[in-house]
Amino acid sequence: MPDAPNTPQTRSRETNTRTASCSCGSVTLRVSGDPVRVSICHCFACQKRSGAPFAQQARFERDQVSVQGPTRQYERKADSGNLVHFHFCPNCATVMYYCLQLIPDHIAIPVGLLAEPDFPAPDFSVYEARMHHWVKLPDNMEHMN
Ligand SMILES: [Zn+2]
Ligand SMILES: [Zn+2]
Repeated sequence: MPDAPNTPQTRSRETNTRTASCSCGSVTLRVSGDPVRVSICHCFACQKRSGAPFAQQARFERDQVSVQGPTRQYERKADSGNLVHFHFCPNCATVMYYCLQLIPDHIAIPVGLLAEPDFPAPDFSVYEARMHHWVKLPDNMEHMN
């Protein structure tokens, strides 16, 4: 499918801000500064959430991110027993961000929402025990099972 006709520039290099948006455009996130951590995760929960063989997400401090538009929340208990709260667009169901109970001052954003091919590459690859057999990852990242 072609991009939406009015797709905004998602990154301003002058102000180092980025804009993430859902499929329908009713929810946007404004993100300032660089991510604290960028990772990919191969776990089945991330596979189901994203619909892809693995998910890539960027963690930011909460005060780097402002949310415009209504979201709904879905709560999931992680394998660790800790809660994860997913915030999604009630209209198009895109998961905009999620919060880990364990790290309350951080917010994780699915990298695809930024539509920015130059976004920093991930430093961590998590849950490689569930990695699809064809995936080849660069060596210069930390690998965890
Ligand atoms: Zn939407
Ligand atoms: Zn995962």
